[in-house]
Amino acid sequence: MTDTNYPRLLAPLDLGFTELKNRVLMGSMHTGLEDGNKHERLAAYFAERARGGVGLIVTGGYAPNRVGGVKPFAGKLTTQKEVSRHRLITRAVHAEDGKIAMQILHAGRYAYHPLSVAPSRIRSPITPFTPRALSTSGVEKQIAAFVRCARLARDAGYDGVEIMGSEGYFINEFLVTHTNQRTDEWGGDFSQRMRLPVEIVERTREAVGTDFIIIYRLSMIDLIPDGNRWAETVMLAKAIESAGATIINTGIGWHEARVPTIATSVPRGAFAWVTKKMKQEVTIPLITSNRINLPATAEQILSEGCADMVSLARPMLADPDFVKKAQESRADEINVCIACNQACLDHTFANKMSTCLVNPRACNETELNYIATKSPLRFAVVGSGPAGMSAALVLSERGHEVDLFEAAAELGGQLNMAKVIPGKEEFHEMLRYFRRQIELKSVAIHLNKRVAANDLISATYDGVVIATGVVPRDPDIEGQEHPKVLSYIDVLRERVPVGKRVAIIGAGGIGFDVAEFLLQDGESPTLHLDQWLAEWGVVDPSEERGGIAANRMQPRVPAREITLLQRKIGKLGAGLGKTTGWIHRAILQMNDVRMIGGVNYERIGDEGLLVSYGEKRKDPHWIDVDNIILCAGQLPLRDLQEPLASAGIPVYVVGGADVATELDAKRAIDQGSRLAARL
Ligand code: NAP
Ligand code: SF4
Repeated sequence: MTDTNYPRLLAPLDLGFTELKNRVLMGSMHTGLEDGNKHERLAAYFAERARGGVGLIVTGGYAPNRVGGVKPFAGKLTTQKEVSRHRLITRAVHAEDGKIAMQILHAGRYAYHPLSVAPSRIRSPITPFTPRALSTSGVEKQIAAFVRCARLARDAGYDGVEIMGSEGYFINEFLVTHTNQRTDEWGGDFSQRMRLPVEIVERTREAVGTDFIIIYRLSMIDLIPDGNRWAETVMLAKAIESAGATIINTGIGWHEARVPTIATSVPRGAFAWVTKKMKQEVTIPLITSNRINLPATAEQILSEGCADMVSLARPMLADPDFVKKAQESRADEINVCIACNQACLDHTFANKMSTCLVNPRACNETELNYIATKSPLRFAVVGSGPAGMSAALVLSERGHEVDLFEAAAELGGQLNMAKVIPGKEEFHEMLRYFRRQIELKSVAIHLNKRVAANDLISATYDGVVIATGVVPRDPDIEGQEHPKVLSYIDVLRERVPVGKRVAIIGAGGIGFDVAEFLLQDGESPTLHLDQWLAEWGVVDPSEERGGIAANRMQPRVPAREITLLQRKIGKLGAGLGKTTGWIHRAILQMNDVRMIGGVNYERIGDEGLLVSYGEKRKDPHWIDVDNIILCAGQLPLRDLQEPLASAGIPVYVVGGADVATELDAKRAIDQGSRLAARL
């Protein structure tokens, strides 16, 4: 049965020689499984998504040659031997009635190795390696490598290829003078600079025949100061269509752009308007992308005529059954990608295997499975934060009987504080998912119940999972009992009024969150696209090159004067996410937050907070503020552990109750789920 709520999303797309089941593309995501010999794991990962009904899958990027790899030993497709390994993937997807295209990614100057090549010898700000400028014949060799790679992909059974022409990688680098200062036939005016992608598509089409999908990923808005003008982008798109592409996919922003494009604080569907501008220019199908994480958002984008298809990359990590659930009127059961990047992109940039914060099975399909138990047991789970809820869900899914105890009046633990931070609204979806699943899995919920060890002992459970979370660390500052002093819980949960001038003690994730919460009066810019675009200086690329105008940035008016402090010397927020930390720092900078490291907290008094600097306690002075907010980290809360263990009850400690310093939802969900998978 097809859900009529999403008629456009679920409609097939006729490509002439083949048909896609629906309008959902699983966008390319590098997971780390592409590198080395992990084809079986990849096959299981993609097969699960094909089973979930997605219209077309695009793999992570494969290099067409060694110099084009994103890093040393990056996955590539250059030989027949590699073809046979790729067949594992294509067969697994076809067995599930799915379709899959392979992305050809040449990293150009973004390559993280010394062999990198580019149109010109210009280093990128995000890699330490200066690329070698290609000779004229060197450019020809790269084109030949793309064509060979596409032909091999066809041999391997792929239904098509995606030629990666956006995000500031090799092909994109030829298009703009920022990176292409050549004087031969591959440089010069735009018609010369765009020759490279057009030749690649044309020669690829000749090599693969007419019945093979060629997606061209085109940078529709570069978000770099000297990026393409809209007229140039249109000229390229028309040429790519004539060269034989089947579909054009949307790329948003170069990796070096200083505008967030996929983070959780980016409004949903924030860039669909860019693809819509292109709709009137070409006749082949267009795919739009970025921050589309719900079927309703996707349907709206399609109904507004922005594109013919939507690309969902991270949402497919979060829930392989996204499409199936939309089809079966079960959209409220979708495990929604919260765009945190914590377990996917942050892992990629740290050279670790990707997975997903909300779905630890992602990329672990061959080893983490929730298999029905043969001997059902009775478990109590104490605490309903992410660790407790995921443990309860998996235990119940496997057939165990579960009582979930929560001292508060609602499920969610610290997630209920995260969801109030401007730009973190997606945490509402995470809570919605957990609550719905707990309902469906018949976990017995006991709210407002601060359960005591004796209650648990007398109930004779077969095991108790302690997920009682954390308590704030006491920073032990002289005068901290002053009425000016509040904890982050007072601010975020209890909504105690806060004055106009604030000092925040502690600049970890929570210190930053509290600062962002206190900067904002009224609704978050994430909920207002125009406001958000203006804040970051994003404009129509018809008006400014690259669609970015630093002189037109319109920061919000900060609701408070904030000073954020830490004792460590060095950059504040250094421990925040690799791909998102800069965004939090930028927001604070835009809003004139003073960020000070290397302080000693001397005393709190009527005058405010007395600080000094360094071991010699130099320059003591008062920071005159109305309130001082303590965000000094956490300690584990696990006082049930000892009495239960003494009574001989098997006890398992998860989440912040286990390791408070790494209190985060990624670790909590992973630990809770893995524990429950083996009990
Ligand atoms: P945290 O990241 O450990 O930061 C604690 C802060 O308190 C540090 O800045 C630390 O800096 C300071 N501190 C530690 N001991 C102190 C003491 N005795 N007196 C005064 N200051 C002290 O902890 P958190 O901010 O509570 O965050 C907890 C976890 O939540 C983190 O693991 C984080 O991953 C996660 N989280 C992340 C985000 C995000 O990424 N946006 C948001 C929220 C939560 P000094 O020691 O230098 O003073
Ligand atoms: Fe989405 Fe976060 Fe999962 Fe990545 S880790 S797929 S951003 S929820």
